[in-house]
Amino acid sequence: MTEEICDTAFYREVLKGFQGDLRWDEPLAPYTTLKVGGPGNVMVFPSNVTELVFLLEQISKHHLPYFVLGGGSNLLIKDGGIGGIVFNLRQLNKIEAVGFDFLMAEGGASYPKVATFAMENDLGGLEFAAGIPGSVGGAVAMNAGVPGAETSEAVISVTLVNETGEISEIPVQEVGFTYRGTKLPRGIILAVAFRLTPRPKAEIEEKIKSILKKRRDRQPVNLSNCGSVFKNPANGFAGDLVEKAGLKGHRIGGAEISSQHANFVINKGGAKASDFIALIEKMQHTVAERFGVELEPEVKIVGQK
Ligand SMILES: Cc1cc2nc3c(=O)[nH]c(=O)nc-3n(C[C@H](O)[C@H](O)[C@H](O)COP(=O)(O)OP(=O)(O)OC[C@H]3O[C@@H](n4cnc5c(N)ncnc54)[C@H](O)[C@@H]3O)c2cc1C
Repeated sequence: MTEEICDTAFYREVLKGFQGDLRWDEPLAPYTTLKVGGPGNVMVFPSNVTELVFLLEQISKHHLPYFVLGGGSNLLIKDGGIGGIVFNLRQLNKIEAVGFDFLMAEGGASYPKVATFAMENDLGGLEFAAGIPGSVGGAVAMNAGVPGAETSEAVISVTLVNETGEISEIPVQEVGFTYRGTKLPRGIILAVAFRLTPRPKAEIEEKIKSILKKRRDRQPVNLSNCGSVFKNPANGFAGDLVEKAGLKGHRIGGAEISSQHANFVINKGGAKASDFIALIEKMQHTVAERFGVELEPEVKIVGQK
């Protein structure tokens, strides 16, 4: 990053035509479920597509770094925070039913709220999303899912604004969904169209209740965490390997491996991002030494030292 790019006066000049809310040196930890990480240079809260496109055009013109924050539920932001412009899409959160089996949601909408909205409209297929505490944009970017169900299966198209501010609707076949990712070009997921299956509300509600109960029984849902730390390796579960390596409950600073589920790390209070990074490295080294398996992080580690 150049000096110019870190310079607030420079950013003020570049952003002076932006009509929406923005916050300087905004602490980012409260915007994440893990509750760690330093500040963002400037956080912007576009409330419509025009504002969002204006920002991306400025970014492209001045070659500025940027980051898109969703619900912050799959993020480990480093203690030095994030340089550049941090997008917060929480005002772009519309959800609507279209026709009898379609649903459209903006990128900043809460994924659990979309699941509830679908249920209220007698639409099944997103029950698994009720327990995934992020945004619609984050769910697509991560192809969020559970064993047996993935976001990719319900999506029919994704509306993306690319880095130069051009908007395009990308059909699901071209999204390139992978295990916890996509092959979408860099940009911002503005909206997602889902095709669901008409089903009685009571049936959907029952399924959601059972999914949420299972989560409460197996995962530390009431403690600050970032979901699964590692992707599951072929033919196995990351949590089993960490547990078999004897690391359940292992702690570094304020970061601890959950004693309920070994693929979760929790903030015991006052943890730094560096505690979590050290703990994650310890998990990787120990599992590699014991079982010869390289665990790949699912959590996105972003920002600067
Ligand atoms: C208690 C708990 C349980 C969880 N359970 C699951 C689970 O069962 N299955 C699962 O898959 N995950 C799970 N997760 C992880 C997480 O909720 C998902 O990965 C979620 O989809 C992330 O969405 P988010 O909006 O929070 O994204 P963030 O964490 O904010 O960001 C994740 C990535 O998505 C990108 N992104 C976010 N929004 C956009 C956008 N609009 N446009 C472009 N890029 C964007 C970010 O830049 C970043 O790279 C869990 C997390 C927690 C805390």
